[in-house]
Amino acid sequence: MQKTTLKESLKEEQSLKLKLFGEPILRRKAKAVKQITDWHSKVLSQMAQIMYAHKGIGLAGPQVGIDEALIVVDIGNELYKLINPKIIKKEGTQVMEEGCLSIPEVSVRVRRAKKIKVLAQDESGRSISIEAENLLACVFQHEIDHLKGKLIVDYASFWERLKMKKKLKELEKRLKDEKLSQSETKSCKL
Ligand code: ZN
Repeated sequence: MQKTTLKESLKEEQSLKLKLFGEPILRRKAKAVKQITDWHSKVLSQMAQIMYAHKGIGLAGPQVGIDEALIVVDIGNELYKLINPKIIKKEGTQVMEEGCLSIPEVSVRVRRAKKIKVLAQDESGRSISIEAENLLACVFQHEIDHLKGKLIVDYASFWERLKMKKKLKELEKRLKDEKLSQSETKSCKL
């Protein structure tokens, strides 16, 4: 009991920050949430704030360093805050040019289902089912991909891969430099 409290309070102290391409958490599978707590509600609200601040229309837990199955989506008419979302029905296909907040300046044409049905839980643990089509369906599929460690770059064609190679290298280099400067600061303090 005490352990959990300590863990939860430690978790709360971390401020959420957008993770960029190259961060290992973006490639890890998110864990299913077994017990929904106030902490999850807080994280979902913070995720929504980060999504709006970056003018995004969807965001998944791993994108802010949380390895749990949480997503937020808002394409302009309703904010969805979902826990453990799963696609249980897919119909038709659509192709959209997608970007990702974690991979700035990169876009990929992605083929996805046109209509889907999503099962999830809300903040109070209630089961909800959502039918979505077109853009909304696309965003849900994009965010649920994040929970599996899958990114839009995985859908890129040969030519798209060539085009974005430089950009991805730059992002990975930026990450390495950041890590390096952080460790330098640390060692200076010692
Ligand atoms: Zn994304």
